[in-house]
Amino acid sequence: MYLHEPTYDPDELFSANYHIHTNLSRCGRRDMTLYAAVKAAQAAGLKEIAITDHIHPFETPKLARNRRVLLPQREEMETNVKIFLGAELSAHGEKKYTLQYANFPLEYRLYAHNHYHMRGWEQPEDRSPSGYKEHCKRVLYNMIASGKPDCFAHPFIDRYIVREFEEDYGFTTGCITNLWTDNELGDLMTAAKEKQIAWELNTTVFRTYTDFMRRYFHIGKEVGVCFNVGSDAHSADKVDHSFYKDFFIHNIL
Ligand SMILES: [Zn+2]
Ligand SMILES: [Zn+2]
Repeated sequence: MYLHEPTYDPDELFSANYHIHTNLSRCGRRDMTLYAAVKAAQAAGLKEIAITDHIHPFETPKLARNRRVLLPQREEMETNVKIFLGAELSAHGEKKYTLQYANFPLEYRLYAHNHYHMRGWEQPEDRSPSGYKEHCKRVLYNMIASGKPDCFAHPFIDRYIVREFEEDYGFTTGCITNLWTDNELGDLMTAAKEKQIAWELNTTVFRTYTDFMRRYFHIGKEVGVCFNVGSDAHSADKVDHSFYKDFFIHNIL
């Protein structure tokens, strides 16, 4: 389900940050508590945030643990910021998902399809750039058919594959991402729209993938999809994404 009505207005898009990790994620900074995240969001003037700690392959039990920690904290907090307790879940292969049970009370299901550097992630048989792209495509279409995600985390971005395999296979940044054609992006976005699945504008990739992000945004706008902005914050100072709003206006919009 969408968290908000589709909009292409930067002020509205950047009034929320739907990708924030706390110290419940191994990669989150130790002092990144829910309280620290909300304080930073308030200072940045954000209206809504989503907490999206990692649920990597085979980590599904962490969902319940995280909720036990965060739910009472949210209840105690006095703030105008609306807080969604979600997760960055894994689609770690064709029809392989963390969170198999549909009725877990998760308020935002952000699914990553491209953490290929993680243990337990399915690798394609054809380990060429187009082999990886086709694998991503099958995983994305399966996810759309399943209706599981509310949004896709950093979709199409190849940096995790490149970082892991640049020496083995000679991959370079964009070698997979740039293979996606406008038609392929448009078809996927049209299919996702029917299921009310949103697409992330992940600010951490704006500078490295600017040309792709411009294409992605404009095709999405044409199709009429919902975009969710997220800064993938792992520390309180990364919750405020206003720097990237300016970058978005000047280079992507
Ligand atoms: Zn991620
Ligand atoms: Zn993340």
